[in-house]
Amino acid sequence: MQAPQATHKQIRTMVRDHETYSKPKIEHSMELSPEPPPEDSIARVARPSFLQPVLHFASWLNNCIVPPVCMSCHSRLDTHDALCPDCWNGIGFIQQPVCDRLGIPLPFDAGPKAVSAAATANPPDFDRARSVAHYAGTMRRLIHDKKYRDRHEGRQLLARLLTSAGQELITETDIIIPVPLAWSRLLSRRYNQSAELARLLSSATNLPFEPHLLYRRRRTRPQVGLTLAQRRENVVGAFAVSARGKAKIRGQRVLLIDDVLTSGSTVNACARTLKRSGAASVDVLTLAIATGHAVAPA
Ligand SMILES: [Zn+2]
Repeated sequence: MQAPQATHKQIRTMVRDHETYSKPKIEHSMELSPEPPPEDSIARVARPSFLQPVLHFASWLNNCIVPPVCMSCHSRLDTHDALCPDCWNGIGFIQQPVCDRLGIPLPFDAGPKAVSAAATANPPDFDRARSVAHYAGTMRRLIHDKKYRDRHEGRQLLARLLTSAGQELITETDIIIPVPLAWSRLLSRRYNQSAELARLLSSATNLPFEPHLLYRRRRTRPQVGLTLAQRRENVVGAFAVSARGKAKIRGQRVLLIDDVLTSGSTVNACARTLKRSGAASVDVLTLAIATGHAVAPA
């Protein structure tokens, strides 16, 4: 997953490969082909040849009207929905080996299913968590920069990074559920980033996407700035499963989607609620993890 000091050309290749890999529908298997298929063969199969000039012109016109820029720093690029080399190299991808429960990096490979001391001391209520990157640098900027929310392709790139990071969870998932926003906050923001990522992940994997089964019973204070104890208290009783949801969740392996995993209080509260409603397991997949925090149960 890591891209050590990629050049501009390599970045374009990586982003294009994410596009290429995402096209087939994947059913309970997220193995990525080690070799991308030839680019020209995809174009020939995908579109009739007489459309190519039209598509090239449309692309040229689009680039004239909306010049392509880096998704993070907005420097000029020659393609849309990509990152410049500096920003790509600024993503601190989570690398193996990781703790099987918390998804945080381990200092050495202790074998499959190795668990960190933090997870042993305070087992989380979810089963396993995985994240694309550390909550820092480019990934932190992308999550904070709401500008990409209106850029479909930009969101798709983030969803593909999620798909890759969550391979081992996705193969053991029955249903995808996002961490919900309170209705009042959804109205003010007009956008639930976690739900949008979950929807795109569902589209890429053919796994069912259920955004309404888990909901917030009440609005909670923002977790930022709270102590661990305050975060736990803040989300007590905050989540519930609808009556229809209980029937759908019973016995299901749930993959819970959020943008950032910090203290774990929110996803732990969600996991407890889902398991009380009969979920067989609850895994967590996020874009970023704040490894400076102690991920602990709420
Ligand atoms: Zn950039």
